[in-house]
Amino acid sequence: MYAINLFKNDPIRISIHKNEFTFIRLPSSFHSITDEEVELQINKLAEMSEEIYISVNDTLKGLEPDVLFDAKKAKWVGFTVTLNEKSSDSTGSSIFSNIDADAIKKFSIILDQVKYKGSVIPEITFLSDYTLGPTIWEFFQRFNLPFIFLRMPGEPKGQDVKRVKEAFEYLRIRGFKKKIYFNFDNPYWDEWNKKTLNTFSGITTVHIDLSNKCTHSCVFCGLWGPDFIEESKKNSGTNKLDDNLKNFMNRQMPHEKAIEILESLPFTVKEVQFGGAGDPLTHPNWLDIISSWRNRGMQIEVLSNYEYPSMAELDFLHQLGKGGKKFRFIVNVSAASADVYKTVRPRQTKEVFDKVISNIRYSAMLRNRDGFGIEVVMLQIINLYNYKEAVKMIELAAELGVAVWLKPLEVHGPIHKKFIIPQAEYEEFKDLMSQVLVKAEELKVNLLFKEYIEKIAIA
Ligand code: SF4
Repeated sequence: MYAINLFKNDPIRISIHKNEFTFIRLPSSFHSITDEEVELQINKLAEMSEEIYISVNDTLKGLEPDVLFDAKKAKWVGFTVTLNEKSSDSTGSSIFSNIDADAIKKFSIILDQVKYKGSVIPEITFLSDYTLGPTIWEFFQRFNLPFIFLRMPGEPKGQDVKRVKEAFEYLRIRGFKKKIYFNFDNPYWDEWNKKTLNTFSGITTVHIDLSNKCTHSCVFCGLWGPDFIEESKKNSGTNKLDDNLKNFMNRQMPHEKAIEILESLPFTVKEVQFGGAGDPLTHPNWLDIISSWRNRGMQIEVLSNYEYPSMAELDFLHQLGKGGKKFRFIVNVSAASADVYKTVRPRQTKEVFDKVISNIRYSAMLRNRDGFGIEVVMLQIINLYNYKEAVKMIELAAELGVAVWLKPLEVHGPIHKKFIIPQAEYEEFKDLMSQVLVKAEELKVNLLFKEYIEKIAIA
């Protein structure tokens, strides 16, 4: 986001959001600027962004709003609408009793004064709290708005945060799906998003589970680990997996749904993570889905065992990695040799291990050659079976030219306990972590969350 002062002595704050719109806040003395000046400046801005949103101040006095549209550059114009303490719906046309009808009326008056009604956006500010949620709802019902702004001053604090949060909750319960932004000319706009849990525009990262399927059998996998499967069979009472669980294990998101989610997300979303209970690359349309999301300019992170992509698919993915934005695959290997790989994944073979390593090697080679492409992070879930290979994992990462993440297995239940490093071997494990640090330094391997390994080593 950029902020620019346009008029030398009368600063206008401008925020440019890539792929979204340029937000311009006109100063309070706007009406002292001539129409020609406005048009000139808007034209200048239009060179930077295709869509311009102009936020005028809270008065219409002296303003000819249509000049903003007639410049053929402003796509939207926003006017401040203040919600006040009066809360009866004097129009009697709403099912809600706590709507601020005055605010609705004020906005209707503004609309009456402009030609391009569909392009006028309310910027709501409020003095009382209980009308906020219902009034926002009513604004969307009556005026068919694409989005609104909530004009909040300064840092998010105390009661105001609570009130906005409650209003959002009110809207969520009613299945509200439209967009609500905090005014971009407030430097704390993203803080407001976070503190009020603004799911209507504030989310920046989305996590999507494309598929619960996986052909691997990591011993620590809560869905596909052999011990977990046995436990589920035992619990079913029939010594078979029950149908609900089988359905869950095979569940995949419909292709159209994945695209629909993409299209309905607010523009504030910058990153998508594909992961979940299975491997996203078992989805029949995984490549198309990932490329659709990438083509919207998203940063991408995928958690995969990396067995499934063919060379041609890796080439395609490599091209998607262009542009400098994060395009990362976190590859769960959890071994540095085929033997340990087979122990950690009892259903897998040396050939699968070789294919995974070959896929990593190929992606890393392309990236090193071209300076763009897939950033592979080799994920090593450290457990009883593989911790003795920890130093070898660093050497393997160095040889392949990728980063590595040594992540001790998290215990979520009694089965996981079987696979953690026994107390009696913990000193050896600590010593190995010290060696890992030295080796990573020596081989210049990017060790993710290194601080965590350092803590283990000196514990
Ligand atoms: S690769 Fe991932 S999803 Fe597949 S079995 Fe292993 S942990 Fe589970």
